[in-house]
Amino acid sequence: NLSDKLDRAFKVLKGQGTITEINVAETMKEIRKALLDADVNYKTAKAFTDDVRQKALGNNVLTSISPGQLLTKLMNDELTALMGGTTADLNFPATPTIILIAGLNGAGKTTFTGKLANYLKTQRNKKPLLVADDIYRPAAIDQLEVLGQQIGIPVYANRDSKDPVAIAREGIAQAKQNGNNVVIIDTAGRLAIDEAMMVEIEQVKDAVKPHEILFVVDSMTGQDAVNTAKVFNDRLDFTGVVLTKLDGDTRGGAALSIKSVVNKPIKFIGTGEKMEALDVFHPDRMASRILGMGDVVSLVERAQQQFDEKEAAELQKKIRKNKFDFNDFYGQIQQIKKMGNMKDLMGMIPGVGKMMKDVEVDDNAFKAIEAIIQSMTPFEKANPETINQSRRNRIAKGSGTDLQEVNRLMKQFDDMKKVMKQMSNPAAMANMMRRMP
Ligand code: GDP
Ligand code: MG
Repeated sequence: NLSDKLDRAFKVLKGQGTITEINVAETMKEIRKALLDADVNYKTAKAFTDDVRQKALGNNVLTSISPGQLLTKLMNDELTALMGGTTADLNFPATPTIILIAGLNGAGKTTFTGKLANYLKTQRNKKPLLVADDIYRPAAIDQLEVLGQQIGIPVYANRDSKDPVAIAREGIAQAKQNGNNVVIIDTAGRLAIDEAMMVEIEQVKDAVKPHEILFVVDSMTGQDAVNTAKVFNDRLDFTGVVLTKLDGDTRGGAALSIKSVVNKPIKFIGTGEKMEALDVFHPDRMASRILGMGDVVSLVERAQQQFDEKEAAELQKKIRKNKFDFNDFYGQIQQIKKMGNMKDLMGMIPGVGKMMKDVEVDDNAFKAIEAIIQSMTPFEKANPETINQSRRNRIAKGSGTDLQEVNRLMKQFDDMKKVMKQMSNPAAMANMMRRMP
């Protein structure tokens, strides 16, 4: 399975102190293969591995953390982001909220309709009504009514009508009458290529203006699921995806591809035939599932913390020797940005934290500073003292800022360095104190 394959891929990196171009390339090839085997489509898999590779190469790995672990962490973050990052909730903008269910035959629509009603009733304090809008099979109406009884939810059906639009409207009218605040419309399965059936569901959509259109898809159908999702999305512009049959040994790859192809959030996953077998979709948990790693993530996080501490110690050493340069400065900005706040970032620089406490820092200020540093040559970054007037002019032009801004940054950098040096040198500190009034 996928996690075995990833294990094997990571072995390539085992025992190596740093992530290099070569071992990452090899590992990423293996990972790409593993993802393809798990039904992730080629474009997604490629974009994913390219991204992880770049991020991996940007990380200097110290001995305290194995490259495999760091890579696992990077992959977990990246997978989570790919699947939407955060959990997407249903919208309830109106009463009743109308939810239309669409998908292929046998995808699990009717089962999900029951599960969703049960979830909304028991977890969200809603009063749903189900509408049986599959007019083609009497058994489909029976199935929904049995489920409704089982979970204690009313079902609207009209066995005499052959008009899905009318039935949907009737169901909504009944919901209003009976005080149901959510209406879930279960529809017939349809093939994306069946034009008449696709027009039919478009007509239902136009008539009832659903607040949510959930596309239900069988995760076991793999790559087909992605193609189907695309066509349904083009026709219906659905608001969310439901992945069914993710119980047992199902591969999670479809989740990844669907999200990246249609760019709609996955909202629920079905994990069994029972009415309770429904989960709100959590991108981070699905990422862990795809990677099959469980505790590895926290392990890596701990290791990364150590890594940060080690880095901080190195930085302190550099400062003591007055070797702090623009590479370090830039690195610190990235760290601070990761934490979302400039002040925090400055606070991480040993000795500067206290000084920065009362300084107001604009997060946007980073952009110009980054641009300026990026416009320096590697030589300049490593040797800030060589950045003379003509170099400053060039840097200003290259970064789209102006000379004044570059001068200001250079001055700030010099001041910072001076302060840092004094703070890290007990003798200088003592000297400073002596001169105080
Ligand atoms: P529909 O044609 O889209 O309405 O699909 P159904 O809801 O009738 O489901 C088709 C089959 O899939 C039924 O046998 C369901 O019990 C089964 N099914 C639906 N969802 C799940 C799921 O999450 N896990 C499993 N194992 N089976 C499911
Ligand atoms: Mg059905």
